[in-house]
Amino acid sequence: MNDHRSRVTGPGQDEDALSARTRLIHSGSSSAKAAGLLNPPVHRASTIVYETVEDYIGRHSRLYDGVIYGLYGTETAFALAGAITELERGYDTVVTSSGTAAISLSFSAFLKAGDHALIIDTVYRSTRRFCDEVLAGYGIEISYFEPEIGGGIADLIRPNTRVIFLESPGSLTFEMADIPAITAVARANGIVTMLDNTWATPLFFRPIEHGVDVSISAATKYLSGHSDVMLGTMAASNEEVFKKLKDAAARWGNCVSADDCYLVHRGLRTLDVRLERHQQNAMTLIEWFQEQPEVDHILYPALPSDPGHAIWKRDFDGASGLFGVLLDGMSGPESSAFFNHLSHFKLGASWGGFESLMVPAWPAPVRSCIPVPEGALIRVHAGLEATEDLVADLEAAFGRLRHGRDARAGHGGG
Ligand SMILES: *Cc1c(COP(=O)(O)O)cnc(C)c1O
Repeated sequence: MNDHRSRVTGPGQDEDALSARTRLIHSGSSSAKAAGLLNPPVHRASTIVYETVEDYIGRHSRLYDGVIYGLYGTETAFALAGAITELERGYDTVVTSSGTAAISLSFSAFLKAGDHALIIDTVYRSTRRFCDEVLAGYGIEISYFEPEIGGGIADLIRPNTRVIFLESPGSLTFEMADIPAITAVARANGIVTMLDNTWATPLFFRPIEHGVDVSISAATKYLSGHSDVMLGTMAASNEEVFKKLKDAAARWGNCVSADDCYLVHRGLRTLDVRLERHQQNAMTLIEWFQEQPEVDHILYPALPSDPGHAIWKRDFDGASGLFGVLLDGMSGPESSAFFNHLSHFKLGASWGGFESLMVPAWPAPVRSCIPVPEGALIRVHAGLEATEDLVADLEAAFGRLRHGRDARAGHGGG
């Protein structure tokens, strides 16, 4: 066992018996512990120097578990990788420069010209763009499938299918996929599965325990939690998968800043309490939204009325703060009245931080095989503010919307 993979247990203790909550608090690095530090030190380096010429000559054999060049990560990155591995219950993890890099590097590690990849239709927009604009250009066949497919994915497998890429719940529209049903088919056919787990985080869903080979997170979002760091993670189910990911990251020049790794590791300490509040606040806001006559329905798998609720309940331990609100419609001027005068909700895309966000969303251009809900979709991120202040902000926004509608109805009728 190398000394970079952090382990929080003592001799004879069963690692799996520790709860994720405890792992979040204690994950670190052995050298930090030896020095009496609670958090891993920030090690900045490009070149690494060696004691002996033999160590120097043999350095590349330690790519997977040693600090050999700043490009491949210093101890600060290895400590974060170890912490993520514990949460994911995986073999080991590679930290990447962004969530987007984790996605593109995962594909790059397993696909070559002539291969075929199956992609869930509800992937994050940049994932779809990477498939359509980059992978297709490299001679890789791409097909999309509907999230409800389950074991039916067997019918889409071709002799050259190498990768199945998943995201559940789906971006913008929050459909749930039956991950164990899909990974069972993939395993039987020797196909690698990858899952973008950014919404749930490994605290609420552990893809590797459900048969996934590569669990991907945009650490930029909840893992960091403070809206000021870009980072991604690729957790591997076994050694072979890990080595392929590490090789791809090295060959494509992936590099992470030790300072950013430190910040994400620091963010992990409070992930559990933050997510609990995000989840609570989301539910409070959803209950309020559901009472508004303009609201058609809510897209959030933790709601018993959601079509994906049974799968969510079976596989997940919680829900995060991001959900969709489908309104009966919203004209351009109504949208301006609604969004342009918000005080606590901010207009911004990258969720997972402490602040509440609300933006209009248009899934239609990024779907090719499932129908898109009719009406106007709003994507809400419930932040950590007091919900009474958030509700007051929403009441004012719906007030402006109604005022505009009444005025128009008045003109129309008179
Ligand atoms: C934000 C996000 C990403 C991309 O992460 P970046 O760190 O912004 O590159 C990938 N997947 C999902 C689901 C995301 O929300």
